[in-house]
Amino acid sequence: MRRATGLDDRLVSRLESIVGSEHVRTSAGGVAPYARDATPLFHRAPDAVVHPGSTDEVAALLRLATETGTPVVPRGAGTNLCAAAVPLRGGIVLVLTRFNQILEISAAELLAVCQPGVANATLGAAAAEHGLLYAPDPGSRSVSTIGGNISTCAGGLRGLKYGVTRNYVLGLEVVLPTGEVIRTGGRLWKDVAGYDLTRLLTGSEGTLGVITEATVALLPLPAYAACGVAYFPTLADAGRAVAGVIGAGIVPATLEFLDNRCINAVEDYAGLGLRRDAGALLLFGDDGDPERVAAHLARISDICLSEGALDCTTAKEVAESEALLAARRCSLPALARLGPMAILEDATVPRPRLAEMVDRIDAIAERHDVVIGTFGHAGDGNLHPTCVLHPEDTDAIERAHKAFGEIFRAAMDLGGTISGEHGIGASKLPYLAERLGTAQLDLLRRVKTAFDPAGILNPGKLGS
Ligand SMILES: Cc1cc2nc3c(=O)[nH]c(=O)nc-3n(C[C@H](O)[C@H](O)[C@H](O)COP(=O)(O)OP(=O)(O)OC[C@H]3O[C@@H](n4cnc5c(N)ncnc54)[C@H](O)[C@@H]3O)c2cc1C
Repeated sequence: MRRATGLDDRLVSRLESIVGSEHVRTSAGGVAPYARDATPLFHRAPDAVVHPGSTDEVAALLRLATETGTPVVPRGAGTNLCAAAVPLRGGIVLVLTRFNQILEISAAELLAVCQPGVANATLGAAAAEHGLLYAPDPGSRSVSTIGGNISTCAGGLRGLKYGVTRNYVLGLEVVLPTGEVIRTGGRLWKDVAGYDLTRLLTGSEGTLGVITEATVALLPLPAYAACGVAYFPTLADAGRAVAGVIGAGIVPATLEFLDNRCINAVEDYAGLGLRRDAGALLLFGDDGDPERVAAHLARISDICLSEGALDCTTAKEVAESEALLAARRCSLPALARLGPMAILEDATVPRPRLAEMVDRIDAIAERHDVVIGTFGHAGDGNLHPTCVLHPEDTDAIERAHKAFGEIFRAAMDLGGTISGEHGIGASKLPYLAERLGTAQLDLLRRVKTAFDPAGILNPGKLGS
């Protein structure tokens, strides 16, 4: 067998003795799939891929890694979009997908206890069987894992009304890089004993510890959900409608937008009957008591029309609602068809500045001669500008990098941030100092050192 590993034989034997040789891969073919996550342009093959099956095994692996100074990158489904799961310094990729059990769902306590490798949609479906809702719903939910979602503090289409992953994490079992196992938080809805390490670990992108169990909050499953769609001449009109909806005291579950390029890409891809001439599409939806949902959707439609919507319809049936949501969910694959490579980015601005931000993105794209379509979570001010290009066109890649640099700066200039939900990983790291300032960045590094004195966990990322 041709071994890809830069690890010495003794270390590989020790890995095998911890998890069993069948759970360690070191061949070039075996490690290659773990060289990338869903971020184009970033890749580096690990020296070994290890699939542990218990917390004790994770602890033993991390003790060994700290002792030998071997980099370790935890990994769920590898759907991250900022290269957070790419092993930039080689070493071990620690895959958590064998941790795939839902340990408990408690209707009485409104919580679930589950292992980190459970897919978001699997937990959602299991909760629904008990009449409960696990609210965070990233677009990748059919495959992305609870461990990955917690480590990136994933958002989703329901973020406006329900918040993001951090709002649902009650407690964690975490293995520290030194091999110590800690339990933060727990089953309690109120617990202020000590610093809130659960929140610190949520969104820490696999740089502080390895999550081996999570206790997450559930909600009663809404009785009913429905959607509508409004088409506007410009995104500025749609932006005013968003402000009008929130200003009217309505916080819908879903308030998503697509720009004209995305509308046309989705229509080419899925043929959903969207209106191609619109400058922007606003998808709105709510859930809960059917009468209240109907009243909210009617009020939202009125507001959209009063802000100049060209057309506004609400779905009459569940299937129609699902088709509308599909229009938003397939934005990325639809845009990806415009070129062989799609770079999906993430920035957030204060809600009232959404339209201004899209105008800036369009101007930046034109100046750098790159194709960028933008969609996102209008209610959260969270935009996903997506650039399509050819991976071998190095000149276009260079122009895209410059364009995205300007886009992140424009977001900060408008009072926003460089990532709303995907994280920092490797691709956003060059912009973090600008966002946080030196004092905060230094503090982050000291926090990282307190958790990970040998610097073995996901090196070259947050806290490095
Ligand atoms: C089509 C598509 C749609 C998407 N839609 C959304 C969306 O709507 N909202 C959103 O927020 N994101 C979205 N994403 C991005 C991505 O799905 C999220 O970042 C997701 O949370 C990653 O989960 P994962 O299991 O794939 O984790 P991975 O990609 O494997 O890892 C992500 C990070 O978490 C760390 N990690 C993973 N498991 C653990 C663990 N057990 N302990 C410690 N660290 C760990 C890794 O080291 C890495 O830093 C989308 C991605 C795609 C491809």
